[in-house]
Amino acid sequence: MTAFQSLEKGALLVLNSGSSSVKFTVFAVEPAQNKIAPFFAGQLCEIGTDAKLTAKTEAGEKMAEESWADRDKGGVAPLLPHLISWIESRLPEGMPLLAAGHRVVHGGSGLHHPVMINEHLMKELESLIPLAPLHQPQNTAAIRVLSESRSELPQVACFDTAFHHTQPSTSTTYAIPRELTEAGIRRYGFHGLSYEYISRHLREEMPDLAEGRVVVAHLGNGSSLCALKNGRSYDTTMGFSVLEGVPMGTRCGNLDPGVIIHLMREYKMNVNDLEQLLYHKSGLLGMSGISNDMRALLSSDDPRAKEAVDIFCSRVAKEIARLACAMGGFDALIFTAGIGEHSAPIRSMVCKHLKWLGIELCEESNANRQSRISAENSLPVHVIPTNEELMIAQHTVDLLTMRNAA
Ligand code: AMP
Repeated sequence: MTAFQSLEKGALLVLNSGSSSVKFTVFAVEPAQNKIAPFFAGQLCEIGTDAKLTAKTEAGEKMAEESWADRDKGGVAPLLPHLISWIESRLPEGMPLLAAGHRVVHGGSGLHHPVMINEHLMKELESLIPLAPLHQPQNTAAIRVLSESRSELPQVACFDTAFHHTQPSTSTTYAIPRELTEAGIRRYGFHGLSYEYISRHLREEMPDLAEGRVVVAHLGNGSSLCALKNGRSYDTTMGFSVLEGVPMGTRCGNLDPGVIIHLMREYKMNVNDLEQLLYHKSGLLGMSGISNDMRALLSSDDPRAKEAVDIFCSRVAKEIARLACAMGGFDALIFTAGIGEHSAPIRSMVCKHLKWLGIELCEESNANRQSRISAENSLPVHVIPTNEELMIAQHTVDLLTMRNAA
């Protein structure tokens, strides 16, 4: 992390704005100790129907569990100024809000690093809305609202796509006419802040692995995998949109494009129908007909739940093998995110498919969620909790420091 003694002591706000929820984490910045530490976190959810605020301190003490339905005018934007005021009212004296860092889904082909927001950049971010119509509008609207209500507050945008800009064209190009590729229809990849966090963690804690070929399985409600070669993204499973790759909570993952043509022709589905189907009704929920939550499926004795889990694990394992192939082999496997960090049975089922690749778990270490969960004679397999919010906070501090130094 960069030294940031030029900053004053204060707080940083990290925001992840969706269509019906805003997740936030507040970090305390201690320049004297060159430290940023999580302070409290929470979310505004059910926005548009019956908004609720929940928040907890880092130690787990409840700070809020309240209805904000009376302020809910539909949409995230009108609630944000209230949220900022609420957050500021919880900051101790002498701890001003220094900046806000936003998770922004798309940086397009040109934005490879986090950036300080200005009007020119806002236009660029808004021009990328067609590439991520379900997420980018919420991200940019949150930045706009803060720019209007808190014009003095520096804001930083951190992109889910940026970490993948190091990929070769063999990883990013679809087999479609070149002019479409040049118009931006290519594989971008997502979850970049998570992979960047893991890559930094490897560099700091496991430098030998950091220089090798590592497959990271980010398995959560949204899931993807990334091939890290020398700490940089070499290939990933999500592509043009967050739909490609393995099946997810409600998203389909890889699907023959012929299915889309068939659904349009024979089922008369339009764009909205397809968006609903592929983003919200497919994946674990669609296959099981029960739930998008892996915990519910693992505890169900319905055969459809078991089949959905089996398909998920088999598809994750196949992507691990594909990414290993892209790098010409692999030296370690990392599990992260909600399912990857917390579900020993899923890690075990995925790894059972990979014995031929030299992967075998120590089931006791796996059940106890040790950092290394592989058997002695296996390639190393680790569980590393990801921290996208900390990554955004660090980028925000770095850009503030650079701005102060300029
Ligand atoms: P994330 O999107 O990374 O927050 O992950 C959320 C998902 O992780 C949830 O939808 C659950 O399916 C899954 N998850 C969390 N804890 C567990 C667990 N103990 N076992 C299985 N799945 C879990």
